[in-house]
Amino acid sequence: MQIAIIGPGAVGTTIAYELQTSLLNVTLIGRSNKQITIKPANQTVEVSSIDDVTATFDVIIIAVKTHQLNHLIPKLHRLAHEETLFISAQNGYGLLPRLPFQHTYQAVVYISGQKSGNEVVHFRDYRLHVQKDAQTLHLKKLLDHSKIELVLEEHIEEKIWYKLLVNLGINSITALGHNTAQILKIKEVEQLCRNLLYEGQQVALSEGIKFSDSLIDDIMQIYAGYPDHMGTSMYYDVINSQPLEVEAIQGFIYSKARYYNLNTPHLNTVYALLLSHHSIAK
Ligand code: NAP
Repeated sequence: MQIAIIGPGAVGTTIAYELQTSLLNVTLIGRSNKQITIKPANQTVEVSSIDDVTATFDVIIIAVKTHQLNHLIPKLHRLAHEETLFISAQNGYGLLPRLPFQHTYQAVVYISGQKSGNEVVHFRDYRLHVQKDAQTLHLKKLLDHSKIELVLEEHIEEKIWYKLLVNLGINSITALGHNTAQILKIKEVEQLCRNLLYEGQQVALSEGIKFSDSLIDDIMQIYAGYPDHMGTSMYYDVINSQPLEVEAIQGFIYSKARYYNLNTPHLNTVYALLLSHHSIAK
């Protein structure tokens, strides 16, 4: 089984490093040949340039940022065969229709880390949730000897929407508020966050995803457990003037809200302002 992980960042390097400890034929692919140091293991992981790789792969795990996907797609054909399994290990939703392949899966990623130059620090978790079927069952068995846990879901949609809503609240307010998780101590911001979650929950409901009545309190409780100085990826991207994954997260929920003709004033405002940040990114 030939496995490729594309995107030698926080998520991709962690997956590649852990799979290489128990499997042969695991290749980490990036834009150029280089070495990444992964911490705290303090080990080196080789990255092969996508333009130099000539092999085809049975499994391709995509771990580039969502806004980097369009540039990558034309290069994927060369790396795949008809039965290749594609797993999008990315936040957000709505990406799969862009992948012109037969076997595509959206994973919900619970792997936390950060890339800085040629170094990746893994913080916690090694989990990918995907839809259960014969192919993912086979893949799960293969990964069982590594730390990467493939959790098979009967209904992946609900997991995807849950993560979307978790990202909608905290990513939006930390990014636009230029502040870390401590921003929730400002009661007006906390209310804004709750309003965003409420609107997101209504959109999910229109899509047929019914969460419990305590969803908003539950998510606020998760945020309350975040250390004060913890930023989100969208917060760091705004601070560093980097492009944002806004289309795949807020933009996806916004497009569904428009489709169902829902009243989502907080989401509309947040989405528009994040688009502005995205448009002036480096
Ligand atoms: P990241 O650290 O920025 O890594 C993305 C990597 O993709 C970079 O190394 C980048 O290369 C590479 N890349 C971009 N375009 C490429 C191309 N055309 N070909 C090959 N490689 C390419 O991102 P991340 O934090 O790992 O996030 C990946 C996804 O996981 C995102 O959707 C994110 O939201 C999600 N996620 C992340 C975390 C987390 O804790 N980090 C947690 C949950 C979910 P360069 O270095 O050359 O730019």
